Amino acid sequence: SFARVQARSAELERSIAAAPESFRVLTGDRPTGPLHLGHYFGTLLNRVRLQQAGVEVLVLVADYQVITDRDRGEDLPEVVTELVLDQLAAGLDPERTTFFCHSAVPALNQLLLPLLSLVTVAELHRNPTVKAETAATGDRPMSGLMLTYPLHQAADILFCGANLVPVGRDQLPHLELTRTVARRFAHRYAPVFVQPEALLGDAPLLLGTDGTKMSKSRGNAVSLRADEDTTAQLFRRAVTDSERTITYEPQRRREVSGLVLLGALCRGEAPEDFAAAIGGGGATGLKTAVTEAVNERLRPLRARRAELAADPTIVREVLRRGNAVANEIAGHTLDRVRTAMGMRY
Ligand code: ATP
Ligand code: MG
Repeated sequence: SFARVQARSAELERSIAAAPESFRVLTGDRPTGPLHLGHYFGTLLNRVRLQQAGVEVLVLVADYQVITDRDRGEDLPEVVTELVLDQLAAGLDPERTTFFCHSAVPALNQLLLPLLSLVTVAELHRNPTVKAETAATGDRPMSGLMLTYPLHQAADILFCGANLVPVGRDQLPHLELTRTVARRFAHRYAPVFVQPEALLGDAPLLLGTDGTKMSKSRGNAVSLRADEDTTAQLFRRAVTDSERTITYEPQRRREVSGLVLLGALCRGEAPEDFAAAIGGGGATGLKTAVTEAVNERLRPLRARRAELAADPTIVREVLRRGNAVANEIAGHTLDRVRTAMGMRY
């Protein structure tokens, strides 16, 4: 599925350039912490680019999904604000992008019910991302929400008729499931839903400082808003190996290559060139080079972010407007769904 999605992306890019107004993007994040470089290169840059190309963009703050793998959301109002600020600082224009929260759109949750009826429990259990995320939570037993969240996500995409979803690689199984339930709904009732396509970014799976997927929840992420010293500290603790010559060999040298790729993406260079420039500098040379590349790349974003954060009313207003737009769309879709299902009394 990964190869197919990648192969399709060039074609998609041409269609987007030719007719941006025929696309609608839905994408989002869990308010579990600040956005990091994985988000930036995995999806955020694509969001900004698509918006600039004239595509309509909706961004979800998936607050109900925080409790898939933890007891409760910590400091939600603050984390939600930070999440929106990160995206505004990265270049999403609140005049053109609709930001909204799960918890503010009740009709969205009602859409989940018919979707749940369209899959089997065995299909839900087979989802490789759900398996990996459950494994990452240690011995915490899988919650019912964890098992079904890919469908919750399907509802997010389908309610607004999004046909394009810029995501990281971990999301591809969920996109596939979304397409499946859209098809099954059409077969059982009526073709209410569009079948969306995934759009992968430059780095569909960016690794963190420990060589595993960079995640907010794993303590291995370089957050966009971190200051330069914190960023340096994080890289000083990064896992490397003992070979002096720095190379880019993702299969053989997973951790080192992950760091090389981070630096290269920040510089807009090929990873081989970034590695060659460090040469025999060893782990210390690599860590210094990556820290510099990251801090340099993020400096303008961090400055913009500080300016935006000075006015606490900005995010509140952005969400108030966005929630209203999302509610209107969701109500309309739910109407069509209930009509298709014969729920008119
Ligand atoms: P958490 O650990 O709380 O699940 P996360 O870091 O996985 O947080 P999400 O909010 O779950 O972040 O993901 C938001 C979006 O960012 C998704 O489209 C996901 O594919 C993408 N993304 C997250 N991490 C990476 C990464 N390391 N590389 C590429 N894309 C990523
Ligand atoms: Mg995640």
